[in-house]
Amino acid sequence: TVSEQFGDEAVTWNALLEEHDQLRQQQTAEKTLEKLVGHGGTDLSGACDALSQGLLLIDDHLIVRYANGAAAVFLGVEREQITGMVLTNAVEDEQLVDALQAAAGDQRQRATIEIEKEQDSGRGVFRFTIRPVRREDGLAAMVMIEDITQLRVADEARNQFVAQATHELRTPLTNIRLYLESLLEEESPDAEFQTNALNVINQESMRLERIVGDMLNVAEIEAGSLKLDMDDVHLDVIFSDLERDYQAQAEEKGIVLAFNLPPKLPAVHADRDKLVMAMHNLLGNALKYTENGGRVSVNVEVDEATGRLLFEVHDDGIGISPEDQSHVFEKFYRAKDRRISSITGTGLGLALAREVIRLHGGDIAVESELNRGSTFTLSLPAKAA
Ligand code: ADP
Repeated sequence: TVSEQFGDEAVTWNALLEEHDQLRQQQTAEKTLEKLVGHGGTDLSGACDALSQGLLLIDDHLIVRYANGAAAVFLGVEREQITGMVLTNAVEDEQLVDALQAAAGDQRQRATIEIEKEQDSGRGVFRFTIRPVRREDGLAAMVMIEDITQLRVADEARNQFVAQATHELRTPLTNIRLYLESLLEEESPDAEFQTNALNVINQESMRLERIVGDMLNVAEIEAGSLKLDMDDVHLDVIFSDLERDYQAQAEEKGIVLAFNLPPKLPAVHADRDKLVMAMHNLLGNALKYTENGGRVSVNVEVDEATGRLLFEVHDDGIGISPEDQSHVFEKFYRAKDRRISSITGTGLGLALAREVIRLHGGDIAVESELNRGSTFTLSLPAKAA
């Protein structure tokens, strides 16, 4: 600046200088803001673009000053069009509009709002986190958008699992308590009564143990932590054990149990215990859901074309309706057939068996006709001879 004693020109010169200075400061501020909310190219907005959450900065008129790519996708607006638009044009939800106004306006209120939206892929749930920001740069609020659909789906599944699990555990527990109480109340229980009650208690506690074991396995599978202990497994021993284990049970119900095995069985690479568990489930079900005097057969063969081992369990039992067939592999699902409710079970066996076999690269499929019988086929890659 020059001394103003030199006259009017000096005063004007100084005023000009000051104006210039202000202009320069303003330009610098604008450039910084532009970088921050910029149209790509800067590191910061590049980093924001990499976020899977949507990020928006709005001013006090709810005009979008910055939006990353994810925000445009969540709002269903073209990336090029989103900056400069009034945010409330892209959202319809009244509660959300109110919250945006309350954050960007004088109240400077924070809010977190969850909104359900129908999408092509089904129902989606989005969480909007709205925070007022320092006003210096002409900005008023920041909005973060997250897709929490999976979180909600997982929550629902967990709640359902807990509800069903509690229900399954309650029945055997109630039976144990009732029989124990009657044993305690009876002053001089006769031997037959005692044996009967103890048998029920024994059976029910084994049932509890099985249910808890199955649930732990299901939980491990869902957490992705179920480990397979793989080894070369020789099937002949497994099948002769299976036949021995189930022959007595079949005889009790007057069911003819037949095993048709090829003369030479291949070896498979598998977790022996888990494979046996899956086979037990299929054969156990066939005997459980076949009325007295029926017939159950186990056929084993190697499909030459695919090199797969096929373990097929056929019964002429109560069968499964087409509607139920599409659900029997779901956890806790039991057919809506009144004959099923009188037979104990948790609906976990098939779900577990199929998951375990799929982890081996195989599968389990069902073919069935109501009142005629069912065939469950377990297929597994066999080892080349
Ligand atoms: P659980 O036998 O404990 O109920 P599973 O998961 O093993 O559970 O089977 C699920 C359901 O599938 C059974 O409740 C039954 O309705 C149906 N199911 C399975 N195997 C057979 C079969 N061989 N014949 C008829 N229904 C069957």
